[in-house]
Amino acid sequence: MPPILITMNSEVTGAATVGDATAASIFVTVLTRGPIPRTEIAARLGVSAATVSKAVRPLLAAGYLTESGGESEAATRPGRPVVPLRVVAEREYVIGVKLAADHLSGVVVDLLANVRAARDVALTDHSVAGVINAIGALVDDLRAAAAVQGGQVTRLGVGLGGHVDARAGVVRYAPFLADAAGDEWREVPLRELLGTRCGLPVVIENDVNSLTVAEQWFGAGVDVPSFAVVTIGAGIGCGLVVGGALVHGAVGLAGELGHVPITADGPECPRCGKAGCVESIAAEGAILHRVRAATGRPDLDITAAAVLAREGDRGAAAAFATAGDALGRALAIVANLLNPHRIVLSGEGLAASDLFESAARASFARHAFGQAADCDLVTRPLPDAIWARGAAAVAIAQLFRGPSTGIPMR
Ligand SMILES: [Zn+2]
Repeated sequence: MPPILITMNSEVTGAATVGDATAASIFVTVLTRGPIPRTEIAARLGVSAATVSKAVRPLLAAGYLTESGGESEAATRPGRPVVPLRVVAEREYVIGVKLAADHLSGVVVDLLANVRAARDVALTDHSVAGVINAIGALVDDLRAAAAVQGGQVTRLGVGLGGHVDARAGVVRYAPFLADAAGDEWREVPLRELLGTRCGLPVVIENDVNSLTVAEQWFGAGVDVPSFAVVTIGAGIGCGLVVGGALVHGAVGLAGELGHVPITADGPECPRCGKAGCVESIAAEGAILHRVRAATGRPDLDITAAAVLAREGDRGAAAAFATAGDALGRALAIVANLLNPHRIVLSGEGLAASDLFESAARASFARHAFGQAADCDLVTRPLPDAIWARGAAAVAIAQLFRGPSTGIPMR
């Protein structure tokens, strides 16, 4: 199908995009809530029915939206039939990849973000060239899987931990990626490198932000305009949606909850080098450090440390509870600062939630201010495929809009 309404307004992918912010809002509304009548879209977005009709016309013409499935509804209402809109899922396919320290998780999705194929491959070479090669091979594989289903891949979204400047397409700093000489990734133009290797428009995003978009579109954030996703594990991450828009900040560093200082005399953080930040107390490495010191067992890994705590070792149990207390403070900071409707707690660290959750909730209740404490705190284990799907969702959003996934949803 021929492209329409091409405007060079995409700061993130550097590629042409379709439509404008209104079209983007409408598309996401239909995507997440369709089939949906125009009148309901207008009500949700707070725009006129005429604005919706005008914006929808080119999306219909280009085959992104269609009118169908409204027969039953039309039959039940008098007067002019109400014809709901829905997204044409097969119009394009998009690949999403989560780049983790030891593996890549990739999915190819249709425009409704239905997963059509998924792959998980080991990642051993953390040099820039090694990672580009590995993602390139994964994308080739997923494209072939899409082709078998008759789908054409048009975009790639990649999520990874660290300071990702989505707007510039540059990984400013990724401490979990380093070459053989031990040099960590700094100022890597990942978007451009992957675009050259894969021949696709690419969007890169912080992995927790990608996960947050997945939650906004399909998960615990669907019906709330403001929410946060806090991930715990090797690091402490945070994605923020305020008033329906993902918050990036000036250079993509919004939500660095892990490095918010919570105590003046805390241990030094191995990531940021400062004292007493959330990660220096609540990250996996910090917990392990305390368990080893308390038990005199330097051989323990985090799984063994959790087993020991469950078996009643007081030192080990206290190490997890201390992490829970710090985490609760961190969650209270989020609640007091942004007053979100909901905070979603996720990440691989949830495997030990039985050892810290009650301490975290008690600490949260102590530190959250007034009715901010009424914030809905939920724990949700989210597998890597969901993170990858989030990266694909970010890429889908870029189809209609440039600089951010800040699509207003009411
Ligand atoms: Zn830190």
